[in-house]
Amino acid sequence: MRILITGGAGFIGSHLCDRLLADGHTVIAMDNLITGNTDNIAHLAGNRNFTFIYQDVTDYIYVEGAVDAVLHFASPASPVDYLNYPIQTLKVGALGTHKALGLAKAKNARLLLASTSEVYGDPLVHPQTEDYWGNVNPIGPRGVYDEAKRFAEAMTMAYQRYHGLETRIVRIFNTYGPRMRINDGRVVPNFIFQALHGQPLTVYGEGSQTRSFCYVSDLVEGLVRLLYSDEPEPVNIGNPVEMTILQFAETINQLTGNAAGIVRQSLPVDDPKQRRPDISKAQRVLHGWAPVVPLEQGLAATVSDFRKRLGLI
Ligand code: UDP
Repeated sequence: MRILITGGAGFIGSHLCDRLLADGHTVIAMDNLITGNTDNIAHLAGNRNFTFIYQDVTDYIYVEGAVDAVLHFASPASPVDYLNYPIQTLKVGALGTHKALGLAKAKNARLLLASTSEVYGDPLVHPQTEDYWGNVNPIGPRGVYDEAKRFAEAMTMAYQRYHGLETRIVRIFNTYGPRMRINDGRVVPNFIFQALHGQPLTVYGEGSQTRSFCYVSDLVEGLVRLLYSDEPEPVNIGNPVEMTILQFAETINQLTGNAAGIVRQSLPVDDPKQRRPDISKAQRVLHGWAPVVPLEQGLAATVSDFRKRLGLI
């Protein structure tokens, strides 16, 4: 297949490029590099099945020749990034999704939308199942991401129902791994950076809020299976092993031998109190897909990547 990946120079996008090239596909990565980075795809330069196009996908997308699949992964994806780029976040989820759908329709391609667990907001149903409609504050600081992704899902379903486009929607839960932007402000890069510099880890609030962390290779396996599947409605993909942020901080300090402990800082506005995917639908429709990489193993690979990029080895 000839596959366009928007956000192809981002964390998840670049891992998708690697996987799809390894599977024998031709890949076009598109990115405006506001939160993506060409370092993530530098190793693909010279691969004749790979092309990079520097473009903002909120503008009209032109791609020459056949396209069999469009994977729409362009978006700031960290709460700090939504604060810094609120308008771009809204535009890429809304206008960017419209452009990606328009291209898919023109090329008669299948579209896979990267949605998010943030569509559930600060969830009142736990763990989160796909039929839960969510608890989102539309005007809070996270609303720019949550509402853009909710709009993106609605737009994708409209193209599916009205135009008969083949579409897939994945709701991605917290994912981590090599190539995460070191200063993106999310908990995994923050804690690893702090631990590798012998600093106390910044735990926001009491640290009793929970998250469930999925290693990027497990996510990518689920994404590829979803792309090939027949499932027209959203599917959660993430790791259901849930822990508090305090427990996560202890794990990072232990793994890195950091003796500096933790320091508390204020909790961001609308920070979800609990988050864990119910993955029974994914297991049912994606032929028994389930995460296989244990947290310690995934974190070891991530810490080693951070050490390299920080020049600590
Ligand atoms: N968090 C934290 N310290 C940090 C960064 C984040 O305690 O230095 C907390 C944050 O308040 C949230 C959780 O870790 O409860 C996960 O935050 P992240 O920014 O990774 O993404 P989210 O899951 O909220 O989208």
